[in-house]
Amino acid sequence: MSRLIRSWIENANYAANPFPLNNLPYGVFSTEDLDPRCGVAIGDQILDVRALEEAGLVRLASKSLFDQAIWNPLMEAGSSLWSAFRMRLIELLIEGGETSLSGNKELRNRVLINAASAQLHMPIKVAEYTDFYSGKNHATNVGTLLRGPENPLPPNWLHIPIGYNGRASSVVVSGTDIQRPWGQLKSPEFDTPIFAPSRRFDIELEVGAIVGTASTGPITVAEADNNIFGYVLLNDWSARDIQAWEYHPLGPFQAKATATTISPWIITKAALEPFRTPTPEREKNLLPHLVEPRPLLYNIVLGVELKPEGAEATKLSATNMDQLYYSSAQQLAHHTTSGCPMSVGDLLGTGTISGSGKEERGSLLELSWGGKEPIDLGNGVSRTFIEDGDTLTLCGNALGDGYRIGFGDCIGKVVAAASDPYQR
Ligand code: CA
Repeated sequence: MSRLIRSWIENANYAANPFPLNNLPYGVFSTEDLDPRCGVAIGDQILDVRALEEAGLVRLASKSLFDQAIWNPLMEAGSSLWSAFRMRLIELLIEGGETSLSGNKELRNRVLINAASAQLHMPIKVAEYTDFYSGKNHATNVGTLLRGPENPLPPNWLHIPIGYNGRASSVVVSGTDIQRPWGQLKSPEFDTPIFAPSRRFDIELEVGAIVGTASTGPITVAEADNNIFGYVLLNDWSARDIQAWEYHPLGPFQAKATATTISPWIITKAALEPFRTPTPEREKNLLPHLVEPRPLLYNIVLGVELKPEGAEATKLSATNMDQLYYSSAQQLAHHTTSGCPMSVGDLLGTGTISGSGKEERGSLLELSWGGKEPIDLGNGVSRTFIEDGDTLTLCGNALGDGYRIGFGDCIGKVVAAASDPYQR
């Protein structure tokens, strides 16, 4: 396991800090004085990359890569520049390294922004969003709840990472409020559906992979891994009652279209490299085009918290990305088998990640077992699904030797449904 790379920014070296020099995650921020721009988190500071480029300390290409408030231009510049940029950041921030930044107080004050004073924005323009279903414990739990325990996994599940095409238009950054959706609900005791706000609104604990290199035809799993730029936490908000009525036979549609929240910092593949871990042993041999050439999952500790309005947060669940049956690279390779072109900025959700234990489940649907077993939050408060005013937080950390690669929390507060949208 690799060790902490020390920075001259002292608090970046603290073991509890999520953003040491090993991490260098990419986000977009603004302050009262600065319009939105690309930044890199280091300790409790954000490095203003646009200002750094303007000061001549980062020159990677003949044209500017950071004059827009998104990271798509760096992704489009190609993977050799991804590495060159990270190397340059390390040169500028490493303890005892080049002093053009550390030794220049005026420049330091200009390009290092106190993170507490910054607001975070969407780090990329999402091209398209696809959501997979690659957590075996989750798929088994949901299959058991919906169809019974005999055959919880569909027959294709052990052969391909199944998924559906979601909506890029409703992907939002952490901190954005989520309004409870309306939709068609049909309970078993009635013959016809009603149109009403969802009563079974839920989260899904996922990791999102961001495609950084476009492709135009089928690619191998190894090529797919090379094409991934980085990872975020992803909450695929899900209206279970809308889903249960609409999903036959084409899968989720409006149940998942309200919003998808991502964490604000893109964690690069380079930062996660020491944490690679293989997918679990195959229960059925995969066809050759989906076999992993090397470990392509990551050891990332994941958690979910729920905070009711005006109350303390309660930890609901803890699990690990290593519980997935398929890696993001396998999902991306499968996505291209038909010849489907993939674009810079495509976002792929892994599917809900649940461990095998009860307190390792990544959705309230599973934690409350379809609403039948309320989750105790203490002080006489319990939940089956999300109530208005609840704030849901996903967190993720890869734990190194004396340091951590933190993801930055993925937060969303659920607010009450609008009044009937057709009464106007
Ligand atoms: Ca999902």
